[in-house]
Amino acid sequence: MLANVFRGAGKFGIEEVPIPMAGPGEALMRVTLTTVCGSDLHIVRGEHPVRPGLIIGHEAVGVVHALGAGVHGVELGQRVLASAITPCGQCRACLSSHASQCGGDAGYRALGGWRFGNTINGSQAEYVVVPDATANLAAIPESVSDEQALLLADITSTGFAGAEAANIRIGDAVVVFALGPIGLCAAAGARLQGAALIIGVDPDPLRRATALRFGADLVFDPDSVDVVAEVHRVTGGGADVAIEALGTQATFEAALRCLRPAGTLSSLGVYTGKLAIPMDAFASGIGDARIVTSLCPGGKERMRRLLELVRHGHFDPAPLITHRYRLGEIAAAYELFGEHRDGVLKIAITP
Ligand SMILES: [Zn+2]
Ligand SMILES: [Zn+2]
Repeated sequence: MLANVFRGAGKFGIEEVPIPMAGPGEALMRVTLTTVCGSDLHIVRGEHPVRPGLIIGHEAVGVVHALGAGVHGVELGQRVLASAITPCGQCRACLSSHASQCGGDAGYRALGGWRFGNTINGSQAEYVVVPDATANLAAIPESVSDEQALLLADITSTGFAGAEAANIRIGDAVVVFALGPIGLCAAAGARLQGAALIIGVDPDPLRRATALRFGADLVFDPDSVDVVAEVHRVTGGGADVAIEALGTQATFEAALRCLRPAGTLSSLGVYTGKLAIPMDAFASGIGDARIVTSLCPGGKERMRRLLELVRHGHFDPAPLITHRYRLGEIAAAYELFGEHRDGVLKIAITP
């Protein structure tokens, strides 16, 4: 089969590799659609270490091609969505409702639940082995297309998690920093949770325009507006919730400064290096503020819930797919995605 194989920082590409076998508890999925994620860029640039020889990719829709022993709840030939995070469903983290932090049998490890294209072969291939398939494969309803299902695996689940972790209440004012695919889904999640006012912040005019279609009421360009002052003005004292979806000091700090007392900063960004919390923005630690962080929730039940939202017409992530490539052209897809060219949000890749 063809697969996108990582060979070291800056070195990756399509190779011919053997079709894998499904072991006990695993399923072999024939991939019908996959995509490139921001974390894949970190991998190919050598910023997130994975072993050379690994197949990259963690978002996949496909058809069940073979089942290992002991897999329940899925059938051969069924259209399925595999969650990007594949919790085992049996370890301490999983059984304490922290499945994203799944530690498996190997003990605790940050990002333990993220296995596809991180610690095991991923989905930018014609076939992928899904671990703990009983817990991680969700049947796709007939009325939901592959393009609608694809982005639920990671982008939607992560963005929604930012809104859920903040416990947004009906009537809250919410500001979302960075309107990439995850920030856009965070805005949509805030809308589903009943926010009264959602403010999107991003320097890219195309992304701001998309945010208005994904639930934002107002959008600000941080290059031309004093965002913190404007958020305090339009909310009458600060946002109840600020969602950070980029992972930089500047956006984290601005998010903190936008909060009203007792507000919640929900952080989805991935930070590298040091992150400082300025005491003047943090009421010296006595402002009843909360800072919460999330990793994409995975597993079959999470995927089922997201698929139900799409099936019943409450949410549709498909408009985030702006470009389409064949698997053989994946290098061009990485280039376009990495350079943020041509208004790209997400790229659908067909094996
Ligand atoms: Zn991802
Ligand atoms: Zn687990």
